[in-house]
Amino acid sequence: MRLERINWTQAEEYFKHNDMVIIGTGSIECHGKHVALGTDFLVPSKIIELMEPRTDVLIAPTMPYGSCEYLGDFPGTVNLGYDVLYAVMTKITESLYKHGARKFLFMNGHGGNNAALEQVCMDLDKKGAMGCILNWWTLAWVLDPAWKGGHGGGEETAAMMAIGDDLVDTSLMCDNNIQHLTENLKTTGFGSIDFRGFNILTRRSVRKMSDNGWIGIDHPTTATKEWGQKMLEGCAQYALDFIEEYKKVEL
Ligand SMILES: [Zn+2]
Repeated sequence: MRLERINWTQAEEYFKHNDMVIIGTGSIECHGKHVALGTDFLVPSKIIELMEPRTDVLIAPTMPYGSCEYLGDFPGTVNLGYDVLYAVMTKITESLYKHGARKFLFMNGHGGNNAALEQVCMDLDKKGAMGCILNWWTLAWVLDPAWKGGHGGGEETAAMMAIGDDLVDTSLMCDNNIQHLTENLKTTGFGSIDFRGFNILTRRSVRKMSDNGWIGIDHPTTATKEWGQKMLEGCAQYALDFIEEYKKVEL
């Protein structure tokens, strides 16, 4: 059941008997040359689409934009930043809270959104409500360790192959040319550098460390549509099982 497809009397009826809402959260940002800017928006949207026929929980529209300042130098990336994302998600959850929502599940596609979403969860907690963030790509690593991947690597590329043939351009798949700071300071992620086996956190524009925009140990050329289909279905089923348990939580 989609919030945008029901009328207010149906919403009123829903919240008389239910208190949960699923909301997708994403980002429009560079994922390397070979895969679409909307990866972090389209993947959670697809997982929710797979869940829809198998759940009675109300689904609110997925938030397409997120917080991704470090990718902002790549054309097409749209960054709301922490403050705006936090403000928007606060308004959405406050509105739904007013109508009776108490449990929120954020099906999240982008790690940069976590800080704002965690604060929203904390705010909900203070009001006797609750929010949970399900980061689909880290869930996938638990479902099958072979699926573990980075940003725009095999994992996300496989997910996008399963969503649409036009979303991945295999002819643009290439190495990411990650730049290290010095011989001993290796770039290990968008926000981390390794020194003697320990990761030191940092934040820099990704364009300074890669001329491509993907990062990870899972080269995009390893992605297959079958991998993506299996992974998206696995995430959807896990989320459906989680929802049944989440329903039992007494606030
Ligand atoms: Zn992503």
